[in-house]
Amino acid sequence: MTGDRNGAVDLPLDLEALAFGGERTVRVDASGPCVNCEGSGLDEGETCAFCDGGGSMVTEREATVRLEPGLADGDTVTVPVEGPEGGVLAIVRERRDPTLTRDGSDLRTVIDVEPETLERGDVLDVDTLDGEVELRVPQGTPDGAELRLIGLGLPVSRGSDERGDLLVEFRAIRPAAPETVRAARERGSATLWAGVLLLVVGLAFLASAIGARVSADICEPSATIRCVVVVDGVSRGETRLSADEQRARANGAMVLTMIPGVVFAGIGVHLAAKGMRQRGEHRAEEGQRRAD
Ligand SMILES: [Zn+2]
Repeated sequence: MTGDRNGAVDLPLDLEALAFGGERTVRVDASGPCVNCEGSGLDEGETCAFCDGGGSMVTEREATVRLEPGLADGDTVTVPVEGPEGGVLAIVRERRDPTLTRDGSDLRTVIDVEPETLERGDVLDVDTLDGEVELRVPQGTPDGAELRLIGLGLPVSRGSDERGDLLVEFRAIRPAAPETVRAARERGSATLWAGVLLLVVGLAFLASAIGARVSADICEPSATIRCVVVVDGVSRGETRLSADEQRARANGAMVLTMIPGVVFAGIGVHLAAKGMRQRGEHRAEEGQRRAD
């Protein structure tokens, strides 16, 4: 058994775990007695092949660690792993939250609402670390105003019961005008159909390339047989070429025809995908702009 603490491991935690603590199962690589010779270094009188006679080996172990509330990114906790003296260190890594951002011990979130909601006032559901909370928006709340939910932030320090606040910012967002939505959809449709057309042209090239190769007559000229070679559906007249040479020419012609086919089909697929994206985008991006 060694006194060193082995390598530290990362322990990713979401904001909820940082705020409230709890238990986590951690897997760590830690050295301990060899599983084959149980630390003796000998296997039936010979040097143990598992540990090279050293008596110890690194294996993956599982341990449960208790987390106190108020941990922060970079804090270390000790994982009580069997084997290494003093356990193994785990370094806390804060996971990004999709809606809440940390500001010291305070948390911030932004809620998009229609301008009318701010003008008239409303009661909105807000996601917090403590679950959904109803928040009353007063009549005539200005765009960008912030409301403070006391005590719904993160603990002010490690192990502390005292918590910061959750600051909720309201942002007025006007839904896109119908004509903007229609224009975006029409532009997307045009791109989509151009893409489909190019794809069809490309596939036609590919089909004709393969068709020409399949129908190319290949024959061996002799004293009695007159050989007429047809490549790409075009008669190339009599030939003095061997069957292998004719085949090579037919293959070459096929590849040359395939190149524009692949290019057209590729551009077609790209445009079609872009058109589909444009048709959907009006909702996600263009469709929403800040109401000023
Ligand atoms: Zn061993």
